[in-house]
Amino acid sequence: MFDIQEIRSQFSILNQEVNGKPLVYLDNAATSQKPNSVLEVWNQYYTELNANVHRGIHTLSQLATEEMELSRRKIQKFINAKNDFEVIFTKGTTEGLNLISYILTQKLKKDDEIIISYLEHHSNIVPWQLLCERTGAKLRVIPIDESGILQLDYLDEFLSEKTKVVSVNQVSNALGIVNPVEEIIAKTRANSDAYIVIDGAQSAPHFTIDVQKLDCDFFVFSGHKMYAPMGTGILYGKQEILEDLPPFHGGGEMIAVCSFDATTYAGLPFKYEAGTPNVGGNIALGAAIDFIKKVGQENIQNHENALLEYAQKQLLEIDGLKVYGEKAHRTGVVSFNLEGVGISSDVGMILDKMGVAVRTGHHCTQPIMDFFNIAGTVRASFAVYNTFNEIDLLVEGVKKAQRMLS
Ligand code: PMP
Repeated sequence: MFDIQEIRSQFSILNQEVNGKPLVYLDNAATSQKPNSVLEVWNQYYTELNANVHRGIHTLSQLATEEMELSRRKIQKFINAKNDFEVIFTKGTTEGLNLISYILTQKLKKDDEIIISYLEHHSNIVPWQLLCERTGAKLRVIPIDESGILQLDYLDEFLSEKTKVVSVNQVSNALGIVNPVEEIIAKTRANSDAYIVIDGAQSAPHFTIDVQKLDCDFFVFSGHKMYAPMGTGILYGKQEILEDLPPFHGGGEMIAVCSFDATTYAGLPFKYEAGTPNVGGNIALGAAIDFIKKVGQENIQNHENALLEYAQKQLLEIDGLKVYGEKAHRTGVVSFNLEGVGISSDVGMILDKMGVAVRTGHHCTQPIMDFFNIAGTVRASFAVYNTFNEIDLLVEGVKKAQRMLS
């Protein structure tokens, strides 16, 4: 049974007033709130278990190591990776994408090509531009149409023996568009030997992920967008690929033997986990997965889709409100502007006065904003704890903003 009040009761932070109004938190694509179960696990780690992992023979160190490795196995199951050592702890999607683009440096040469899409977050653009600068490779960008849908004919045209990387997100953070990654992967495999990278920052919180079925080479996501603490994230990579590629950071944990003459590297996953990890956060990420599993991924998805449907319908009844992105292809996000209101942040400020938290601006996706010839949008994004009543408050706030600003 999906009991929204019971779910909300697990998020103490929601039970507060902001600017004298009950908090309506609709900025979940930026970061989600954390259930008490996750906070308790995190707190328990620091009150009972805190010790550095993998290094100590003392009891706390061993217990902390066991807990973190247990969490790794939960994540392995969550994304259906073949092996737990294919799951690398990072501090988020940004680090994951930078790591991949760095370790691929030696695999690219001048005039090779990297394909991304117009719908990417800056963190799936800039690391590839840096890789292009290092190697002389070129970036090719799959365009979108007016509905925000990727124009896959261009992918067919772009793919060649020069293509060394294809990196796209599964869900766009700015528009909520769900991209056909299965089709993109199939086309890429059929026409090139490229490494395939999926940015799952906005899909992992909402969808069931199966990296083996997807057959991507890498899959990255952030814990903080899926009910886990900030500073947590995952890089999944196929065993044979991670074994073949060089390390990213050098330091403690990642060596087999270190000498001044020659250093050899530890096996997976430690080769990619230099330095002391975010042990408490990584353990709490496992607790966030427990939370998601307990509520049920299908329940979460159904609820969020119903919220999206309801929000979109009501918002579109407002004269002069434009929603960006084709609804049939979206999840969890509604991104919009009011005609005649030039600055989305003005709408955001009025909503904030009413206790409604949304994001405004370019959402780290300036190319999408340029495409639509706008500076930004107002973005409401949903999580499992949002209610229909909260959408009513959003809509009421948007109407008020329109009255005040136009
Ligand atoms: N990709 C997408 C699609 C995102 O939504 C985000 C976060 N907004 C990122 C990458 C970067 O994630 P993080 O800031 O957690 O590293």
